[in-house]
Amino acid sequence: MSVHSADTTAALEEYRHRTPNSRRLYERAVQSLPGGNTRTTIFFEPYPFYFDRGDGCLITDVDGQVRIDFINNFTSLIVGHSHPRVVAAVQHQVARGFSVASPTELEVHLAEMIRQRLPSVEQIRFTNSGTEATMMAIRAARAHTGRSLLAKFVGSYHGTHDYAAVDGVALAGDGSAPRDGIPAAVADTIVMLPYNDIAGVERIVAQHANTIAAIIVEPVLGSGGVVPAEPAFLQALRELSRAHGIVLIFDEIIAFRIGYHGAQGHYGVQPDLTTLGKIIGGGMPIGAFGGSAELMSYFDPRSPRALSHGGTFNANPISAAAGIATLDELTPAAFERLNGLAADLRRKLVELFEELNVPAQVQQIGSVFNIHFTDQPIRDYYGVMAGDRALQRDLFLATLNHGVVFTRRGMGSLSTPMTMREVDLFVGAIRSGLADLGVA
Ligand code: PLP
Repeated sequence: MSVHSADTTAALEEYRHRTPNSRRLYERAVQSLPGGNTRTTIFFEPYPFYFDRGDGCLITDVDGQVRIDFINNFTSLIVGHSHPRVVAAVQHQVARGFSVASPTELEVHLAEMIRQRLPSVEQIRFTNSGTEATMMAIRAARAHTGRSLLAKFVGSYHGTHDYAAVDGVALAGDGSAPRDGIPAAVADTIVMLPYNDIAGVERIVAQHANTIAAIIVEPVLGSGGVVPAEPAFLQALRELSRAHGIVLIFDEIIAFRIGYHGAQGHYGVQPDLTTLGKIIGGGMPIGAFGGSAELMSYFDPRSPRALSHGGTFNANPISAAAGIATLDELTPAAFERLNGLAADLRRKLVELFEELNVPAQVQQIGSVFNIHFTDQPIRDYYGVMAGDRALQRDLFLATLNHGVVFTRRGMGSLSTPMTMREVDLFVGAIRSGLADLGVA
């Protein structure tokens, strides 16, 4: 059911009124950068606000507008902006050198911390982004199995390389990303599977069983709408992939955030390979892929079968230092507090939508959430797409004028500097935003 009859005129006018410096910067930016920036995900009409500085859970734009940041650089900034411990670690390292063609103790330390949290990760390698992490994990699976097909799920997002982009979530709009620019030879190696549908997966996998190298899955669909896997679903993937000699990859680039032992600890299912990114770099560029010693041995340069894995900035000491400081902060108690706060946010939003009689629901797991304007149950990306996406985008704009920012897809995440005060301010901003739009 759709409720959308929003009038954005007043919200737009107010936004323009508050952001003249951003508008000037945007007009300058479009001369040099297509759309005025370098990231599909961060553009919105009439123009995005340009960032000046961040402090804890607050961001200030170039017009001096302060907003509570519920985007957290798409879940990366789990300890907020410029956390003193992270700043100190980065400053210490910057003074000693910031990139080098040698391994460092910092990368060893960060690898040990991740292994301690994720028992399925016996060996790990670092990259500069999540995109590179999924690309290399897929490469390892193909090398190991000698097969070429990659099975992935409708509504998943694994980055921007060609294999990830085939039928991946279109981050800029609705539906799937266009295949333009991707060779048919690449697209032909992708098999799409239905999320949270064990029988559907079994049927499709059976058709290609001897040619699928890997199944890559987000234990929680992130960009696709924060849809958690149902527990039996991941277990079924584990058994199915084992039975057919398929490598099971958990993409935990967002989902690692849900608990001390990541999504695999939460669900009690161990993949063969895991991809990581975002929070493990403490806000600096990073990615990682790791798993069984056998699979990761393809990256051992001492081995005659070693795959080439270069990267000028791989495991750079600044990202490693920021990541170590961040993971140090993320104790089991810190996760418990943060996830509890997110559950409170969900409860308060649900109460608000009930009070206002707006058909909406809130998906939440760990410290990640997504508002969906539909009263139908959501188990997969089709359920997400059935929601009122236009209202989501309009609400995003309206809430900017009320001191909070979350994503245009209705997704948000919490950071450790937040308290119940920020939760209440967020819920209040949603109430005010809906009122501004004439929806409630
Ligand atoms: N995989 C998942 C699940 C993601 O959410 C993302 C980024 O949002 C990526 C991969 C790609 O990571 P990056 O943006 O660091 O390339």
